[in-house]
Amino acid sequence: MRVKVAIIGGGFAGAATAFFLSRAGLDGIVVLEREPVCGAHASGRNAAMCRSVAETSQWTALTSRGAALLREPPPDLSPAPLVTRTGGILVGTERATLASVEAQAAAFGVRHQRLDRAGLDARWPLLSGMAAEGAVSFPDDGVIDVHGLLQGYLRASRAAGVEVVTGAEVLSMRMAGAGMELTTRDRTLHADCVVIAAGAWAGVLGALAGADAPPFATLRRHLFVSARDRRVDADAPWLWHLDEGIYLRPESGAWLLSACDEDAHPPSAPEVSPVALEHLAERAALLGPGMQSLSIARSWACLRTFTPDRRPLIGWDRQRRPLFWVAGLGGHGATASGAIGELAAESILARLRPSTG
Ligand SMILES: Cc1cc2nc3c(=O)[nH]c(=O)nc-3n(C[C@H](O)[C@H](O)[C@H](O)COP(=O)(O)OP(=O)(O)OC[C@H]3O[C@@H](n4cnc5c(N)ncnc54)[C@H](O)[C@@H]3O)c2cc1C
Repeated sequence: MRVKVAIIGGGFAGAATAFFLSRAGLDGIVVLEREPVCGAHASGRNAAMCRSVAETSQWTALTSRGAALLREPPPDLSPAPLVTRTGGILVGTERATLASVEAQAAAFGVRHQRLDRAGLDARWPLLSGMAAEGAVSFPDDGVIDVHGLLQGYLRASRAAGVEVVTGAEVLSMRMAGAGMELTTRDRTLHADCVVIAAGAWAGVLGALAGADAPPFATLRRHLFVSARDRRVDADAPWLWHLDEGIYLRPESGAWLLSACDEDAHPPSAPEVSPVALEHLAERAALLGPGMQSLSIARSWACLRTFTPDRRPLIGWDRQRRPLFWVAGLGGHGATASGAIGELAAESILARLRPSTG
């Protein structure tokens, strides 16, 4: 079978790339996903926070654009916003932390408001005991409908002619003429362009393709959901304490929390570590007395994938000409997916459909 573009991975990276390629009118696209359903790994197991301002300006360029697309999605992606605007709050104990957040928000035109300690306590009274210099509040951030977003990319892609194949693990890749030949258990494909959008397995796929892949770091992070708690205000903004390394948001009458852990773990569906709960308790204590005796109802762990400099890798491989990377989406791939898909599609189309100008 011959295709123009074979995308390996049906998470946000692969689905958003397929969406923007197909809505530009490109045909001959296939998405190959190993699992029985798309979104079985990071794209279906994240904290769903829409955070417009990230750690670096490279990332904020993507998250601010991605957040705008979530608020006003293209109609073929979704007729309604894909984010509930509860707002979001980035807290710091250091003035420098808050100044850097504010500078990035201003540089990328993200609506924000500086909160002093009293303003923060008014917004999050339950956490009035935590150590904080102040915070920056983002009224347009909130909680992403991650399922609706991923399914929206896939549904619209299928409607535009993309074939999405699940249970299709890519087992081998080799150069074949100007393109590449890929095999899954059931088929052999020849693709003009192969997109590695395999999340934690990007390095594995790169090695399979004989590419000189960067040494991706795959880092485990735990998420916890508390028992139902009458104090939860469903409309409260998410809150991320940047200097103490903990975040939380309301989730169905309970709290969703993470202690921002990141321990190296090989690519896989990671197990929950027995010490993760202890680590969470230590961090939660830093939020003051209001969060000290939470009982936890469930927890899970998943991997975030980073390049060595933590910038996402979106671009053509330097040695293997047909190979394109959409990898290293770290902790912002849900928010930034639209911007990443747009960027990837633009670069791929520029080579596959050069302007005759
Ligand atoms: C705990 C946690 C919390 C997070 N919270 C947030 C958040 O609040 N906000 C936010 O914006 N982002 C968040 N993220 C980040 C976001 O979830 C990721 O950046 C994003 O989901 C990565 O998407 P992906 O498509 O690169 O990877 P994945 O979703 O992992 O998709 C890769 C796919 O490739 C498939 N695959 C692998 N190997 C093969 C093969 N050989 N053949 C075929 N298919 C293959 C896998 O099965 C998988 O489905 C969080 C991540 C984690 C882990």
